[in-house]
Amino acid sequence: MRILITGGAGFIGSAVIRYLINHTQSEVINVDKLTYAGNLDSLTTVARSPRYHFEQLDICDRGALGALFRDSKPAAVIHLAAESHVDRSIDGPDDFVQTNVVGTYQLLEAARSHWTTHDCFDSFRFLHVSTDEVYGDLGDSTDLFTETTSYAPSSPYAATKAGSDHLVRSWGRTYGLPTLVTNCSNNYGPCQFPEKLIPHMILTALAGGSLPVYGDGKQIRDWLYVEDHANALWTVMQKGRPGSTYNIGGHNERRNIDVVTAVCAALDREAPEHSPPGGYAQLISFVQDRPGHDVRYAIDAGKIERELGWRPRETFESGLKKTVKWYLENADWWRPLVEGSYQLERRGRSANPS
Ligand code: NAD
Repeated sequence: MRILITGGAGFIGSAVIRYLINHTQSEVINVDKLTYAGNLDSLTTVARSPRYHFEQLDICDRGALGALFRDSKPAAVIHLAAESHVDRSIDGPDDFVQTNVVGTYQLLEAARSHWTTHDCFDSFRFLHVSTDEVYGDLGDSTDLFTETTSYAPSSPYAATKAGSDHLVRSWGRTYGLPTLVTNCSNNYGPCQFPEKLIPHMILTALAGGSLPVYGDGKQIRDWLYVEDHANALWTVMQKGRPGSTYNIGGHNERRNIDVVTAVCAALDREAPEHSPPGGYAQLISFVQDRPGHDVRYAIDAGKIERELGWRPRETFESGLKKTVKWYLENADWWRPLVEGSYQLERRGRSANPS
């Protein structure tokens, strides 16, 4: 099966590609513009495989997409390319509207043209990877997001992802394109860009900097280890019913402050040599909250478990341990990022999860 993956140089996309090359016989075409978030170093373990190909391309470029579909004739698309950081969407929504909405539209049209003109009518799949943030804020209720929860996005990021989800579903309903949509909770794991909560806290703590937590730190997110997400996407690709949506979550609701405290505790165990007196948690500080910050997201992942038999393998504790160890052992991956385009101290307020 030849699969076209957009955003394959990003955090989740690279995990999906490593999964497909290592655990399946699929051939992968990685389509990525290589924005600040794209990093081919995340793919060094699979880049030499004859089943891996890379095309640097902007998904807003319809002509280039059309040529790629004509040349490569993929059997499926997994669409991950996006602008993905909430704080950046508040500072400058333009790229989010372009890539997440217009780019998804261009990709859908290129895929539809390929699907109607090639011999893949029944078997073709277009899997759109989205977020639980499209559902908005659960506040202090005990509800969970299900696949039928109404959309109520709060940030420009979430609004553009919501727009892209609607486009994908309408291409399924109107044109019959065999689409699948997944809405997943917060991911963490190896190769995540250092602006996101967990890597930011790990790397800032190792550098002895202060660990900024938004507001009172009581916002709740559900956390999923990225390799579990990759496995879930492959499960949906193989067994999902076209036209369906699947929520993906880790059964790991945590307050932000508890996540940061757990990172500090893991570092106390794994890297005591860099610890300040009293442990890494001494570095935690509370900073002004993000505008429009949602209080709680929580996923009901019952449908994917009942219908497709998927459950996450990692607990938050086991996944966090692996993640902290990975960052400790892979300074060659993150050092060029923190010393180059992105500096930890400069973006202190970007340190909190979506
Ligand atoms: P990321 O920011 O790490 O990676 C995004 C990738 O897309 C990068 O490699 C970037 O170069 C590429 N890209 C951006 N604009 C592009 C364009 N115009 N054309 C081609 N490539 C482009 O993001 P991520 O965290 O890996 O997220 C991947 C997808 O999963 C996104 O759609 C995101 O909304 C969704 N998602 C993420 C999370 C999470 O916790 N990270 C959770 C749920 C869903």
